[in-house]
Amino acid sequence: MNVTEIFGSYVFNDAVMKEKLPEETYAALKKAVKGGKSLDIAVANTVAAAMKDWAVSKGATHFTHWFQPMTGITAEKHDSFISPVGDGTVIMEFSGKELIKGESDASSFPSGGLRATFEARGYTAWDPTSYAFIKDNTLCIPTAFYSYGGHALDKKTPLLRSMELLNTQALRILRLFGNTSVNRVITTVGAEQEYFLVDKELFNKRKDLVYTGRTLFGARPPKGQEMRDHYFGAIRPRVADFMKELDTELWKLGVLAKTEHNEAAPAQHEIAPIFTDTNTATDHNQITMEILKNVAERHGMKCLLHEKPFAGVNGSGKHNNWSMATDTGVNLLEPGKSPYENAQFLLFLCSVIKAVDEYQDLLRFSIASAGNDHRLGSNEAPPAIISIFLGDELTEILEAIDNGSSYSNKENSDMEIGVHVLPHFPKDTTDRNRTSPFAFTGNKFEFRMLGSSISISGPNIILNTIIAEQLEQFADALENAKDFTSALNTLIRKTIREHKRIIFNGNGYDDAWVKEAEKRGLLNIKTTPEAIATFIEDKNVELFTKHRIFTKEEIYSRSDILYDNYIKTVSIEAQTMAEMAKKDIIPSILKYEEHLAKLVEIKQESLGFKPDPEKAILKNLSELCNSVYETTESLTKELGEAKSIADKKELSFFYKDTVIPEMQTLREAADEAERLTGREYLPFPTYGDLLFSV
Ligand code: ADP
Ligand code: MG
Repeated sequence: MNVTEIFGSYVFNDAVMKEKLPEETYAALKKAVKGGKSLDIAVANTVAAAMKDWAVSKGATHFTHWFQPMTGITAEKHDSFISPVGDGTVIMEFSGKELIKGESDASSFPSGGLRATFEARGYTAWDPTSYAFIKDNTLCIPTAFYSYGGHALDKKTPLLRSMELLNTQALRILRLFGNTSVNRVITTVGAEQEYFLVDKELFNKRKDLVYTGRTLFGARPPKGQEMRDHYFGAIRPRVADFMKELDTELWKLGVLAKTEHNEAAPAQHEIAPIFTDTNTATDHNQITMEILKNVAERHGMKCLLHEKPFAGVNGSGKHNNWSMATDTGVNLLEPGKSPYENAQFLLFLCSVIKAVDEYQDLLRFSIASAGNDHRLGSNEAPPAIISIFLGDELTEILEAIDNGSSYSNKENSDMEIGVHVLPHFPKDTTDRNRTSPFAFTGNKFEFRMLGSSISISGPNIILNTIIAEQLEQFADALENAKDFTSALNTLIRKTIREHKRIIFNGNGYDDAWVKEAEKRGLLNIKTTPEAIATFIEDKNVELFTKHRIFTKEEIYSRSDILYDNYIKTVSIEAQTMAEMAKKDIIPSILKYEEHLAKLVEIKQESLGFKPDPEKAILKNLSELCNSVYETTESLTKELGEAKSIADKKELSFFYKDTVIPEMQTLREAADEAERLTGREYLPFPTYGDLLFSV
């Protein structure tokens, strides 16, 4: 396989554009993209024609405006290129108009009330900053999705807005440091993706996996991840074949798939790309999740992207590695070589520290989902408390700046710390800390709280916005300063002093941290309904509307959609549990009981033996069966009660406080019964079957 030839072969990327477009068209397109301007229709027609010819030469027959509605997954509606010419034949056609704008019946996508049902129209608009690509013989054109009234109905539009905002504010800072050569600051992201692979046949035998993507029942197997033999272990042939095809498919689509390895839990794996700009990284992560599922199918497996497919073994997350970079290729979170560069680095670092401290709620909100609630704070993923890991070295430097004392390390003997005499930062300043939700890893931040199935768009919208807000405040203060250096000094010192409570380098999984965090006044938002509630708080609404990231209507509609999503997820899970209990679990217990009861009779009456083991198992199982039955009844009753609660927030709290604990009780009884039931009586594949199936 020739990787360099395959790579990007299904992408209408810059190299292809240069080759296929007339020079003026290419230049006009580049100019429009750079300036964020809309494209002249003549130019669009030329681009569309070239795109179509290229796509058809690669076997494409259809095109689609590929977009990211609030469902969190991608959507597409295929149109073929054919156009009749009147003599019974067709030609392949694609116009500039079709490229730039699409109209689709959008009434079935969640809009949170932004689009009344009678106004079903939704529009898609080409995002020329993300390359078009071919998937399943279809030319996919990345687009934004918005309503008739101009409100964003998708995850791309606000992301692009937030990137633009950060660009504007970061440029102001760079200018203050005398930098006039940079024209654009982009945010960069590398998203590490975790997932599970299980055998497809076994998967299909479990209604919980089929309906909800996670197991709702299942006793733990004797072997889980305690031997730590899976992590970075040798990759089994079936999985290796899968990964090989996965890489090839992703490379064709220009996704920079780089690292593949086994994760902590049995059957758990990770794929990581090389980082790129946030918009592309987001599109690519959506593509990656889709390709993961498709390729797994072809190999007789199912790829589970759920945050917690199995209780008792690690769940899956997504690490969002984030930084800012200039169009001249400089990473703004890279500690510099000279004190002057370091002052700039420190200021950007401070913008992150202040942003994270002031908007803990929004960061927590940005990763909230019913699935992720099973991971956070359960000793495998970072706790629900937001804090920053900086590493000892950097923390010491900040502390020295804060109290104006001297700082010493191996390379520098004691030195006064001031912005004008900062130390050289040692290269690899950070140790590894796997328990921090937000860790500085040398030249970027790793936001580790994301669940494996969510779109990374949300967390990046929040990151870009809250950091841009700080950069704006900093620029405002510094642009008006009489003495830049001393103003900078004061600003950095003040920021460190006021926000250092958010820095925590210790073990985030430790109970002691929960208490310590509370003392520091940090938020500990444990569940999704509570996290969603913070979104519409005044300070947050003000932030988003001021920067035009979300309108007030968009904020309310999104909060509505999120409550809805939580409610539906838990409700489907609860109904699935009730159904499995009634249709599968109880009947299987009864069958085994019947078998035991018969044995008791035979042994006792015909043979005169004492059937003690049979009786003991029978007694225990009967009791458990009782619990399963009764809990299922109350669960069903509660699901009925839920129907009478109209307010979405109230309803989501009802699910969290009443339904979820009931589900937990039901599961405990059923899992205990599973342990006592003979293998051939079990109604569906066990954890052991699933986890060691591939
Ligand atoms: P790990 O966290 O597993 O040790 P790495 O340090 O190799 O992994 O990097 C993890 C991810 O961070 C990769 O996707 C990588 O491309 C990405 N990354 C590296 N530098 C940056 C950066 N400046 N901005 C955003 N992401 C980055
Ligand atoms: Mg990582």
